Amino acid sequence: MPMWNPWHGCHKISEGCRHCYVYREDAAFGAGIPTMEVRKTASYNLPLRLDRKRNRKFPAGTEFALCFTSDFLIKEADEWRGEIWDIIRHRDDCSFFFFTKRIERLAECLPDDWGDGWDNVAVGCTVENQRRADLRLPIFLSLPLRHRLVVAAPLLERLDLRSYLEPGLIEEVSVGGESGKYARPLDFDWVIDLHGQSVNAGIPFCFHQTGSYLLKDGRTFRIPREFQHSQARKAGLNTIDRGLVK
Ligand code: SF4
Repeated sequence: MPMWNPWHGCHKISEGCRHCYVYREDAAFGAGIPTMEVRKTASYNLPLRLDRKRNRKFPAGTEFALCFTSDFLIKEADEWRGEIWDIIRHRDDCSFFFFTKRIERLAECLPDDWGDGWDNVAVGCTVENQRRADLRLPIFLSLPLRHRLVVAAPLLERLDLRSYLEPGLIEEVSVGGESGKYARPLDFDWVIDLHGQSVNAGIPFCFHQTGSYLLKDGRTFRIPREFQHSQARKAGLNTIDRGLVK
């Protein structure tokens, strides 16, 4: 799935942001520009690119992961987002997925012709703890969207999402831990619990990555980055694995 990052940079706004991978990767490989400085990137028009034969570089059916080094709804991008909606509208033969910790901004960021949602756009609402779930999910469920995912990552505590898991409204619950040297551990019992809640509600479930530290059977396992996705898959809990959430 190609990543389309039309802008880069973000501010930390909630508990899940503490060890944000964008900050971490900028510190290791960045151009020395502070991560909190939001700026347009060279891949601004990525889905429109042509190859040397003037064919579309990304064919019909391509699924783009949108804004994985920022937040699509960050305020600094308000003046640019209209052009991005134009591209998404133009490439209605492709699909686009973004997730956000700023779901309360979505209504004011939608294009005029959004109606009850576009079929080629899926939105994930991040909920890292119960407080953020109780704040964000009622808003999320009230918005006009065709495709909704709940992204419990980095999961920081046991969550009770039962009152929000409405089949037909939520297409997937995706769970992940935190990565990096200072990551907070993920308790496997929390994952099992959310898996049970999702299955009981008839909603597909994906444990997409373990994070760096997994608590299981009274032990803490350190999982190297390259195995965090495969180890999660090996838990055998997934009823769907579309690979939307990295
Ligand atoms: S919202 Fe996402 S990208 Fe922005 S600081 Fe938080 S974790 Fe990082």
